[in-house]
Order: sequence, then C-alpha cells, then structure tokens
Amino acid sequence: MVDLLIKNALVVTCHPNVISGRIFSPGAVAVHRDRIVDIGPSAELEAKYADAAKVIDGDGRIVMPGFIITHTHMPYVLGHNQPVDVSQLRSFWDMLQKMGWEWLEDITTADGILAATQYASLKMLKSGTTTVCDLVEAPNALPGPLTASVRAITETGIRAQIGYEVTERVAGVPIAERLDPAYAKRGFEENIRLFESLASAEGQSSRIQGRLGVHTAYTNSPATLERARELANQYKCGIQIHIAEIPRAFLVEKYGRSAPEVLEETGLLGPDVVAAHCIDLDDADIDILARNKVNVAHTPMTNSLGGNGVARVPEMMEKGINISLGHDCFFTLDTAEYIRFAYLIHKAHWANPALLPPFQALDLALGNAAAALGMEKEIGSLDVGKKADIILIRPDSPMPVTPSTVIPFFTMTFRGSDVETVIVDGEIVVDGGTSTRVDEAIVRKACVEQAVALWKRNGIEA
Ligand SMILES: [Zn+2]
Repeated sequence: MVDLLIKNALVVTCHPNVISGRIFSPGAVAVHRDRIVDIGPSAELEAKYADAAKVIDGDGRIVMPGFIITHTHMPYVLGHNQPVDVSQLRSFWDMLQKMGWEWLEDITTADGILAATQYASLKMLKSGTTTVCDLVEAPNALPGPLTASVRAITETGIRAQIGYEVTERVAGVPIAERLDPAYAKRGFEENIRLFESLASAEGQSSRIQGRLGVHTAYTNSPATLERARELANQYKCGIQIHIAEIPRAFLVEKYGRSAPEVLEETGLLGPDVVAAHCIDLDDADIDILARNKVNVAHTPMTNSLGGNGVARVPEMMEKGINISLGHDCFFTLDTAEYIRFAYLIHKAHWANPALLPPFQALDLALGNAAAALGMEKEIGSLDVGKKADIILIRPDSPMPVTPSTVIPFFTMTFRGSDVETVIVDGEIVVDGGTSTRVDEAIVRKACVEQAVALWKRNGIEA
C-alpha cells in the first residue's frame, strides 16, 4: 500500500533535467511517507496501487516537481510597496544603503521577520515553490533573527536552507568610512546557534538546513572571509553570498582585485557556494567562478532594479557554471514571473532569440537549483527515491496543454495562481490553492501590521 496516488495527470518528470525528462499522459505518481516510490502510465499505477490510502485525480492537471529559489531575503516583503522618496534613489549605492539597509534591514525586528517569513513562504508555496534558500539580514534584531525564521518556515511547511548574513558593516555608518569585525562575529554566532540547534533538535524539522550567510567581499575583511570558509567546512553547510552585484571597479579600486579574485585568495569559493547576482564580471572573473565550481543564483529582476546591467548568463553556462534562479523578495513571490523574466532578458540584451530556450529557463528553478543547494539527489525532479515535493497545476490557458506544449507553457502563460495543490515531503501543504497549515488571513494581517510598523520607523504613515 502507498500513502498517496496522483493519477490521470500530465506528469512531467524533469529528470535528470527538463529536456531529458519523461512525460506520461495520462501518468501517475505514487508517494509513500516522504518519498516518491513509483512513476509511470496512469493505468499501470492505478492497477498496482488500487489500495492507496489517498487518491488525487489529476485530470486536466500538470504534475511536476516543486520550484526552487536559491537566493532571497524573505523579510524584505515588509518593504513591498513602501512609498519611499524615489528622488533619493539615483544610483545602486542609494538603493543599497537607503532602500536595502537604512529603510529596511536596519529597522527590521524579530517580530517583523516572523510575520514576513510566514507570509513570504506561504505565498511561495501557494505559487508552487517548495524550496527556498533564505539569507536573513537584520543587524538590530541580533541575537535571534534565525529563531524567528525557523519558526515561520516550520509553520508554513516550505523546505528551506537559511543563514544569517555575516558582515562587518556597522548599521548607520558608511562602509567606506568604517567596517568592524565585531559585527561579523555576531553574525557568525547567529549562524552557529542555528547549526547547533538543527543538529541537536532531533526530528524537529528535516525540511530546514543551515547555509552560512556572508554579505559580500567588500563588506568583510579577508580574515572574516577565511573564517567563513572554516565554518562552512566544519558544519558542512555551504555558503551563500552576493558577488559582483556592484560595479567591478569599486572592488578593484578598494583592493586592487575583483570580488572573485579576493574570494578565491581567501579560499572561500567552492562547489558548496551559492553566489547571487554575479553581474559585472570580466572573462577572468568568470573563469574563477568556473574553476571553483561556484553556483550562481541569477536574480534578473533585482539586477535590473539596481540598474546594474545584465549578468553574462549564456557565457557562464557555456563555461559550465551552474546557473539557478533567485529573487531577493523585492517583487512578487511568484517564481513563474522570474522564470519568464530570465527567459526574456537575455534574448533582448544579446539580440538573440535562441538564447535560453524554455527548457533551459525552467531548469534554473528545478534541477540547476537543486544542484546549487547540494540537494540534487533529493529534490528538483520527479524520480523514484526522491523527496515527494510535487505540485499540481491547473493551467489557465486558452490552448490545450499537451506533452508537446507543456514546456513552452511555462515560459508563455503559466502563473503561480494556476498552482492548485502543493506537496512537500509527501504532505499536502496547499490544497485547492489554500494552505492546510496556517490561517492565511491571520498570516496576512500580521504581515501588514509589521509592514506598517516598519514604515512608521521611516516616518511613513500607511
Ligand atoms: Zn540578496
């Protein structure tokens, strides 16, 4: 007997990647406990698992692996729609120092993190994202931000890797004026507290893993970057960091070297590193990322917001760099929009419609993302033995979605609101578009209250 049989659906395995994956129509997936135990033609599995404890009829639905976002900051939802004075935002530095730090991170509280992370993870689940890698930044909420994150994530049921951002930046002091390693120490302590608690809390939540957070090469000294590598090796947790989201010239001016050069010298880079942005890189920088097998979290929307240019994704792919998808939580939480943005921007920028075909754009949020998080054996595709992280989509499309149209559907018309059922670890966490875990109205209300309180700290009345 199996716990769950999803039958009569258009099953897209995306295994080992989207283009090589199998499609069964009508197909079925059998789940027992937290794992996929069988995939194949529906009639075959229906006969084999006639006594399944629960059956979902997937007629008219696409069944596929849940999406994975490899870089975000869930507490940033508190800044959504904040009516800030845009005349103060004339450069990326303004965006970073005012919109990112002064108006948001530096005034974020633990209660804000709890409410925002509940809301963001719920919204992501409802639109088909089953795993997220979250980098928490709230210097004035230390110690404790990750405790709030863990609580929120545990409640909504999303799978996550989380870490606190280590930085020597002193809140309220320009980084060119002063950095202080004591602040990095507090950041390390917050990460270590999480790693130790996850290691000791037996069965607390196997869905949460730690991933050491580091802000950037330019807000940390080489000694702090070396310490980050030591800790990542000790806890086998991997590292998440921002690389080259700012003009290359800034680092070259400061250190005489680019961010990849500084990070390679300190030994921080490696196949367990997820690097967000990676925009302003020269050929030698890209070679450094390639030879260190660094995973890139491509964040096309925030790269555009900051006016930072377009990351050289097609060239990085050619050099064998694993490219996944991040979103920073600055905009919508619907992964469909980020897939589509990534799918389009490189065609426009390089005037080449052949770049990033639909299957490749989709891989960014599936197999590539699973590999970036070191979880390619567990998630990112439907395969026997893998975690049952599965989504059911009811396409709101004017055209038939068939085995030959299902992949282009994702870049053409798919929206997160088409997602109907979401399964994580074999557990149905979204049923008919509604969370089975939390009261959505309460989550939303708490998040709105925290956003209004944060805006007030900026002198803004909602
Ligand atoms: Zn970021």
